[in-house]
Amino acid sequence: MAKAKAAAAPPVRGWPGVGTQLAGRLVKLDIHGPQDLLLHLPLRYEDETRCARIAELRGGEPMQVEGEVTDCEVRIRGRRQLVAQIQDDTGTLTVRLLNFYPQQQKQLEPGKRVRVFGEARGGMFGFEMVHPRIRTVDAGEPLPTSLTPVYPTTAGLAQSALRKLIERHVGRVSMEDYLPEAVRARLGLMSLAEAIPLLHQPPPEIDGSALDDRSHPAWQRLKFEELLVQQLSLRKAHAARRAKTAPVLTSPGQLVRALLDDLPFGLTGAQVRAGDQIDADLAQPHPMQRLLQGDVGSGKTIVAALAMLRAVEAGWQAALMAPTEILAEQHYLKLDQWLAPLSISVEWISGSLTKKQRAAACARLETGESMLAVGTHALIEDPVTLPRLGLAVVDEQHRFGVRQRLALRDKGEGVSPHMLMMSATPIPRTLAMSYYADLDVSVLDELPPGRTPIVTKLVSDARRDEVVARVRDACREGRQVYWVCPLVEESETLDLQTAIDTHAHLESVLGELKIGLVHGRLKADEKRATMAAFAEGELNVLVATTVIEVGVDVPNASLMVIEHAERFGLAQLHQLRGRVGRGKVDSVCILMFGGELSQTARARLKVIYEHTDGFEIAREDLRIRGPGEFVGARQSGVPMLRYADLETDGELIDQARDLAVELLAYHRPVAEQIMGRWLAGRESLLRA
Ligand code: ADP
Ligand code: MG
Repeated sequence: MAKAKAAAAPPVRGWPGVGTQLAGRLVKLDIHGPQDLLLHLPLRYEDETRCARIAELRGGEPMQVEGEVTDCEVRIRGRRQLVAQIQDDTGTLTVRLLNFYPQQQKQLEPGKRVRVFGEARGGMFGFEMVHPRIRTVDAGEPLPTSLTPVYPTTAGLAQSALRKLIERHVGRVSMEDYLPEAVRARLGLMSLAEAIPLLHQPPPEIDGSALDDRSHPAWQRLKFEELLVQQLSLRKAHAARRAKTAPVLTSPGQLVRALLDDLPFGLTGAQVRAGDQIDADLAQPHPMQRLLQGDVGSGKTIVAALAMLRAVEAGWQAALMAPTEILAEQHYLKLDQWLAPLSISVEWISGSLTKKQRAAACARLETGESMLAVGTHALIEDPVTLPRLGLAVVDEQHRFGVRQRLALRDKGEGVSPHMLMMSATPIPRTLAMSYYADLDVSVLDELPPGRTPIVTKLVSDARRDEVVARVRDACREGRQVYWVCPLVEESETLDLQTAIDTHAHLESVLGELKIGLVHGRLKADEKRATMAAFAEGELNVLVATTVIEVGVDVPNASLMVIEHAERFGLAQLHQLRGRVGRGKVDSVCILMFGGELSQTARARLKVIYEHTDGFEIAREDLRIRGPGEFVGARQSGVPMLRYADLETDGELIDQARDLAVELLAYHRPVAEQIMGRWLAGRESLLRA
């Protein structure tokens, strides 16, 4: 144990050269201590051991050249940019920086000698590189002898700074190998002491392709350890859940049948399947932990409502929590409409209730006079008690933090309620598995019949007039229109202003139409009144910030315009688009984009343009963003797999699974040490 303590070195902050700001950025990468730093492995490697001549440049692959800067100017015509010329004795290369710092301008002063590394493309006047990596060198400076690691990083932390930091610590920090040598020998695994330095500083003679495709034994070792930690934590969390007691929610199913009989539609096959899986869980004396995943409009609400009825019939309470007032209220109204004929009342709990209303609702829940509650996070606040809570449902669960979900769970007294999480943000299953410690997943992979396909169009901002004309046409035909303005994260005021300006503009050019406006700053009852007016058809157009993003259901709205679509996340765009296509007429979603798009922005819009399937979109999103972006997501439970791949590392997974069982049974301390190192203080989240 003493040994383990010594290995758990002090946090990064307070290390020589690591100030508060740097420490903060490292924490964003989930680097809290020196061991985390060493486990932060390269995304890929760049080969700077070779230098081409400028005349040898080819397009389409990253290459390095060295030369002297002969010219450098800041162009202000068109887009402001820095353009430099670099020359060797075979030719000239143009270097273009669209954003730049004074520091870079200095690097590119005429007369300086530089090495640039990047992808060249043929421009009008020979080859050019946009945003290459630039390094100032002395004449005759030798080339590096080993591959250069490229790390996942975060805003404000330069690749070179991170690299230097890691370089300084490799070899200085010792990583004890918790895996006994006998085990390593049996599985043919390299030691950590060998693998880690090798991955950070590959020796010159190494097989670069084995590094790149991560088949090298050093990678295998790290992937194995990562998978082992995942297996260990899954097992631990699962065991912890089995040790808890939940109410057994079985019943003859009279209420469920009564509701089904009243519904104007029949359930889809997927809804029936998910319902069966949930029922089976609810019949267990251990808490369910299930994610109901289904694309926008796949009909998750009714599945949840049926589960809630099971709880009520078994004599237990159920609560449904949603992230926004609008969404929560829609759920409330829907449940009330479904359940009132069965004489079951639903309590509405939100921040906008008066003290008196809330007290009355709380009293009815406390005495058990009311068995169902729907609300926002107000549900988890203090005055609300749900003494017989048997089932907690969380909609759009990714909008809530782990702690909020736990707070809802803890509203029950004495027992752990069953948990049903719902999400339309399609996380590929492999990702979901690593995201949550211990979670079963039901998927609604079938949309209710009668949905109309949505046609997506990409339109430049310059053609706004045509878009407005389209809005007018749609409204003349009796349709309704959403006009969505982006959320500007840095500035709520700006966000508000865009929506207000757009609203004013549309009112002036579409004088004959009724145009409403909702945004985050409105009071809850103002928002509600506007939404209701839109749902009732009293408004033709609804200008909105992203408050309508989730769950709103107005079948007559068949046109959606999204401004500055390039500023939205892909999942968000997909959710927004799902607000139309809910009625009988063909629906259209117009994505407007402003100005010149970056390459990534273009790639992202292309994805949303080409795909309608949420899962496909999520997969593409992952591909474009790369694993680095998802580091933050790891805060929620078991770390995401950073190095191993559940699809291609099947053999390692099997070995890790077997070893996890063995360690937990016979070598518990070893299991704890390994988990401790990789999870670094997040273990409490495993119990989530
Ligand atoms: P989401 O999965 O996005 O939360 P909802 O539960 O809001 O979807 O359902 C979208 C709409 O589809 C609602 O109006 C709902 O009443 C309706 N609906 C749900 N299931 C079916 C079904 N099997 N057949 C027809 N309509 C359905
Ligand atoms: Mg929903």
